[in-house]
Amino acid sequence: MKQSFYDLNFSDLEAVLRQNDLNSSAASVLFNWHYKKKETAQCASNIAKDSLAFFQDHFDFSLPEIDTVQESNKDRSVKFLFTLKDDHKVETVLIPFHKKYSICLSSQVGCAMNCSFCFTGKQGLKRNLTASEIVGQFLQAWCWLAKNRPGEERILNIVFMGQGEPLHNFDAVKKSCEIFLSQNGTSIGVQKITISTAGYIPGLKRWSQEIPGVNLALSLHSPFEEKRNELIPINKKYPLVEVLEYVDQIPLRKKQFITYEYILIKHFNDSPDDATKLGTLLAGKSAYINLIPFNSFPESHYQCPDLGAIERFKAVLDTFNIPTLIRGTKGDDVLAACGQLNSKH
Ligand code: SAH
Repeated sequence: MKQSFYDLNFSDLEAVLRQNDLNSSAASVLFNWHYKKKETAQCASNIAKDSLAFFQDHFDFSLPEIDTVQESNKDRSVKFLFTLKDDHKVETVLIPFHKKYSICLSSQVGCAMNCSFCFTGKQGLKRNLTASEIVGQFLQAWCWLAKNRPGEERILNIVFMGQGEPLHNFDAVKKSCEIFLSQNGTSIGVQKITISTAGYIPGLKRWSQEIPGVNLALSLHSPFEEKRNELIPINKKYPLVEVLEYVDQIPLRKKQFITYEYILIKHFNDSPDDATKLGTLLAGKSAYINLIPFNSFPESHYQCPDLGAIERFKAVLDTFNIPTLIRGTKGDDVLAACGQLNSKH
């Protein structure tokens, strides 16, 4: 099988050209064509004939295929279901803000973390995505916008908050970030990319060393170890104290902060006591808290707290002076909100 062109970062591409005695200046033309212009599906035609023939013979330019598109009537979120070469499916969500978009990318088919509140986890892990399958979600979503909402093909933020645990598929996620960051390509700013993790320490170590500057979001969900064990089973292996200890010693850039995500589940982790303990744990850190009201999905036994409880929770955090945002539930009418992604549906 041919290698995917979209698995190469810029220096890989230069190396391929050099090793095959082709003019390495074609690298910037190729990146420009595929990632700036987003001309996909076939090789750039504006390179030297010998390079063109080489790429046509040795590389695959296909992308994940769009199976279905669901558009939210409520807020214009768009959920894509993609079919991969081996017929596995993954989902990607475009989240609008002022005619620009954030894209929520999947990093795995299914997920091994098995978090009790997450729909994706119910599928188990099927396999890792390749870099080209990650980059492909972005390119296909961009092209869909260009065609269906012309003028709105502006995807300015990338969040790895779709299906999968990105730090559990580090190599492919890293390579996709390098492609997104490349000045010759999509040229997305490093501060515009966020990787969300359940707290997988081996991946955190690599993140801090290999792609510093890419933002981190930690799914915290409970400041109490026993409760967090129930929500996020890998907490038993990598307990929250150790995760926080590790995160705390990572040097951050100016104005960089860590986002702590906290799902609010009715009568489970939404009491003022939970909020006080959370505030105590995070006070004084470069922290930003995202409160995510639990999004339900078929067969889930948890519930979303009422608005009053959510606001009371936030009010406690405010006393600790930690910037806290209650995240809206964009896309929930098409099951595109956090934790509602599951390729079978
Ligand atoms: N594995 C990564 C990224 C995937 S989920 C992680 O754990 O961070 C992205 C965010 O959605 C996480 O904070 C996750 O905990 C949250 N989430 C998952 N299921 C949810 C649900 N049913 N309701 C609300 N948020 C959910």
